[in-house]
Amino acid sequence: MSDIERDPEPPTFADLDIDDRVLKALSDVGYESPSPIQAATIPPLLAGSDVVGLAQTGTGKTAAFAVPILSRIDLAQKSPQALVLAPTRELALQVAEAFGKYATHIPGVHILPIYGGQSYGVQLSGLRRGVHIVVGTPGRVIDHLEKGTLDLSKLTYLVLDEADEMLKMGFQEDVERILSDTPEHKQVALFSATMPGAIRKISKQYLHDPVEITVKSKTSTASNISQRYVQVAHQRKLDALTRVLEVEDFESMIIFVRTKQATEDLAERLRSRGFSAAAINGDIVQAQRERTIGQLKSGAIDILVATDVAARGLDVDRISHVVNYDIPHDTESYVHRIGRTGRAGRAGEALLFVAPRERHLLKAIERATRQPLAEMQLPSVDDVNAQRVAKFGDSITESLTSDNLALFRKMIEDYEQEHDVPLADIAAALAVQSRDGEAFLMTPEPPPAPRREREPRERPARRFDDGPPARSRGPEGRSHGSEGRSHGSEGRSHGSEGRSHGSEGQELATYRIAVGKRHRVVPGAIVGAIANEGGLRRSDFGHISIRPDHSLVELPADLSRETLEALRRTRISGVLIQLQPDSGPPSGRPGRGGRDDRGGGKFQRDRDGRHNPH
Ligand code: AMP
Repeated sequence: MSDIERDPEPPTFADLDIDDRVLKALSDVGYESPSPIQAATIPPLLAGSDVVGLAQTGTGKTAAFAVPILSRIDLAQKSPQALVLAPTRELALQVAEAFGKYATHIPGVHILPIYGGQSYGVQLSGLRRGVHIVVGTPGRVIDHLEKGTLDLSKLTYLVLDEADEMLKMGFQEDVERILSDTPEHKQVALFSATMPGAIRKISKQYLHDPVEITVKSKTSTASNISQRYVQVAHQRKLDALTRVLEVEDFESMIIFVRTKQATEDLAERLRSRGFSAAAINGDIVQAQRERTIGQLKSGAIDILVATDVAARGLDVDRISHVVNYDIPHDTESYVHRIGRTGRAGRAGEALLFVAPRERHLLKAIERATRQPLAEMQLPSVDDVNAQRVAKFGDSITESLTSDNLALFRKMIEDYEQEHDVPLADIAAALAVQSRDGEAFLMTPEPPPAPRREREPRERPARRFDDGPPARSRGPEGRSHGSEGRSHGSEGRSHGSEGRSHGSEGQELATYRIAVGKRHRVVPGAIVGAIANEGGLRRSDFGHISIRPDHSLVELPADLSRETLEALRRTRISGVLIQLQPDSGPPSGRPGRGGRDDRGGGKFQRDRDGRHNPH
């Protein structure tokens, strides 16, 4: 077959000895084949080994540990048998949700997220009812252990997710305590994006002969392929893609998505917008696949929406563009994907959509391929409209050579005489007719309407995690009692001119967010939400000052437009934070950073990443 190269067959989920019910759920959610970290991690975890996996968010690591746990869950045991520790409440919720998805066909599995900032009531009733899997942040897990409301005496599986982040956020002691206070014979899986000494030490001390997994990547990309990326939030991707399709000069294109379902959905949406697109995925029978590829080759269709598996080895000369609509899990997939263009010595274009939270995957791709990707600005509304006008002109020019021209010209001349209407108006009326009522020009999107903030729910005057302000708190606002130290002199507020700098020397600016004491926010919730949604690192944060009805947060002064946009739409405790640069007090605003004029709870990070009042 000329259009297929020979590539080694990757394993399928069915090869991995996964429980049939979980297998069915994986097929329901549309995963076609295991990501590299899943293929490497699921077998040893199913075999009972401890595992250390070097993996970041976006690689599919959640399923890598959730699938083996669910495959071996004992529904009869009602006290928690699996505990996943995650650094932030957002990740804890995300992981719990993923477990729920993979457990759809195992009725009766109870999964409970527990994290700081949520009232104890929900968590306590969940724990009382009996749970099989707990996903929690370390601080809140310890709180429950201390209160005697969480029984981990029958724990069989312990997962440390984003272990390096947990340590950076000051959870080392809590994590070690949970590791040592739970049954000796449990199976432990540790996932971390990096392997600092402290994590190696934990692995040595608490894991038994772990299987270490780092997924090696094929890293060479051809020099005839130009590689660019666009920063775009998930919910804007379809709009971004249609702009690219309108403005880029492409011959034919492959668009990569992650799931089978997504190939069908996206192809359908593109067709409804007038593009000639078709889907290929692993479920499509070979004959149909061949037909679709034939259509792509002949130019009957221009756009193929594909999964990695379906497009493996595809070799069609006229593919001028590859769009990574969903960022690939690993560098090797990226290299395979973009190798679908630039065939037969031609030039190729590769475009990568990167959501704020996926920036680290972009960095990993750049590192592994040793090639920086150029940032591309999304075509503006004006760019798109200019292109539409130009294409409209081209279509007129093209139709002027049509055989039917004489016939229509006669009809138009008759009309002109009969109705006494200028020719330009008649031509315009015909153009309107051909649009079938659709708008011709794109209109700029209105700025997002300010939504009404939800009033915070009535809460008891004082909650368990609402310690007195004079004590230091962990990232979840849990009181650390006597461990808390104030690090005034070690804080990261430098600069004699009222400027503050991050731990890596970048200049910080003060931003204002619309949640404060009234909303019962704690520094950890702010750090977690902003870091997650804005793709920031913990080290990017400076002071956090929580005021009665808003908070001030120091973040890098040069946040991109996309990051600012994503952060404006972020919610904490259900409230839109509407992040914006702080314009300071109404008169005589002092210099930024390290100010003592802010009143309220002022927090500063110590070296472990804890936020301490001072
Ligand atoms: P994670 O790294 O676990 O946060 O996963 C990143 C994203 O990849 C999530 O949206 C998952 O639903 C998705 N995902 C995980 N495994 C697969 C797979 N084998 N095939 C397709 N998508 C996957």
